[in-house]
Amino acid sequence: MSIPSLEQLHAIGAKQQPSYGDPAALAAAVDRLRTLPPLVFAGECDELKEKIAAAGRGEAFLLQGGDCAETFAGATADNTRNKLRVLLQMAVVLTYAASVPVVKVGRLAGQYAKPRSSDSETRVIDGEQVTLPAYRGDAVNGFEFTPESRIPDPQRLLEVYHASASTLNLVRAFTTGGYADLRQVHAWNSEFVRNSPVGQHYEAMAAEIDRALTFMQAIGADPDEFHRVDFYSSHEALLLEYEHAMTRIDSRTEQPYNVSGHFVWIGERTRQLDGAHVEYFRHIRNPIGCKLGPTATADDALALARTLNPANEPGRLTFITRFGAEKVRDGLPPLVEKVTAEGVDVTWICDPMHGNTFEASTGYKTRRFEDVLGEIQGFFDVHRALGTVPGGMLVENTGDDVTEVIGGGEELDEHGLAHRYESVVDPRLNRVQSLEMAFQVAEMLRK
Ligand code: PEP
Ligand code: MN
Repeated sequence: MSIPSLEQLHAIGAKQQPSYGDPAALAAAVDRLRTLPPLVFAGECDELKEKIAAAGRGEAFLLQGGDCAETFAGATADNTRNKLRVLLQMAVVLTYAASVPVVKVGRLAGQYAKPRSSDSETRVIDGEQVTLPAYRGDAVNGFEFTPESRIPDPQRLLEVYHASASTLNLVRAFTTGGYADLRQVHAWNSEFVRNSPVGQHYEAMAAEIDRALTFMQAIGADPDEFHRVDFYSSHEALLLEYEHAMTRIDSRTEQPYNVSGHFVWIGERTRQLDGAHVEYFRHIRNPIGCKLGPTATADDALALARTLNPANEPGRLTFITRFGAEKVRDGLPPLVEKVTAEGVDVTWICDPMHGNTFEASTGYKTRRFEDVLGEIQGFFDVHRALGTVPGGMLVENTGDDVTEVIGGGEELDEHGLAHRYESVVDPRLNRVQSLEMAFQVAEMLRK
């Protein structure tokens, strides 16, 4: 199947696209992107699709995590290593509790474009209200609040490619070069449990994992899987220019794949059935995701599934539900029931972040740790009651000790947010909150 041209996609009227001022510069950037090598291989995307299919059957659990928005300045070795480390630590705990493989997918190496609820942003500067175009991610414009920085610059699309390439290169080196060694990752978890007051609550489970590993060692088991992990990249495929230029025909299958990331998803704001994003996604062969928020009806979900996965291929489509802790128990069941009753094959995962965002009295965008956990519990309860499979979760987190989400064992409050708030868009769980979440979700998985 050949994919529609960029012109055809734009003719549909794509939402959430930048208004570039210089069409020639944009065309030049797209032409250049089209000549650059793939960042991922179609075969790897197929392999991930199989694993997501397993998650949909309850034979694996999908853990997707990373920044809301990556930044070029943040694409450093330290940052990448810390993010990877915390995701691997979470994965070990979840693997043990779920007794199935955890499929590890980073919101990284490409997560540079953001949909926004408003096209502009107003701040008070020296007593005056100043309104500028909204920041749309480093892929589009600068975070700095100046008129120059907020102008969309097509050169940034090339920078996305290069930053993604270097991040992915480092991730591949870490995950196959010994850094992801299971005993090492478990040792980091043990250190968390031993040395932090929050970690102490999880001593019993850490000790169980310890005994399991010691047993494996005693019997001389040393499989390859102890020393390396499969790790995949993902991002919201938002900017048509970038995603289209990175879509290539796979020589083995003659099918189009988006080779800028293994897994790409459609955001809550661009999932219109007759929209340009759905039209684009319909044609690529990667495993794909689609967000479903509280305004999605059961019919919407069904129509999206039929359009995006007409062959009903397992692992092809993941519905990422993000209702909010308050709404998940009532909002989710009708969707799951209808899709299931129609025999439609999807993997359901929970995004407990985006339905739980609010503005703190101090002006920071935040979430409550308790709401995040509450939505995951609701998600599990709904699926268990319906006899369907909770296939995984998507989180916004970081390996650093930031202060962006309130609550959790460290009892961060609204006033603590200013201490180290670094996210340029949505608040992320910090390192300790991420590990705490993994242990708490592990308890949920065991019940
Ligand atoms: C996101 O995942 O960062 C995001 C913008 O989510 P949603 O599309 O669900 O609002
Ligand atoms: Mn976000």
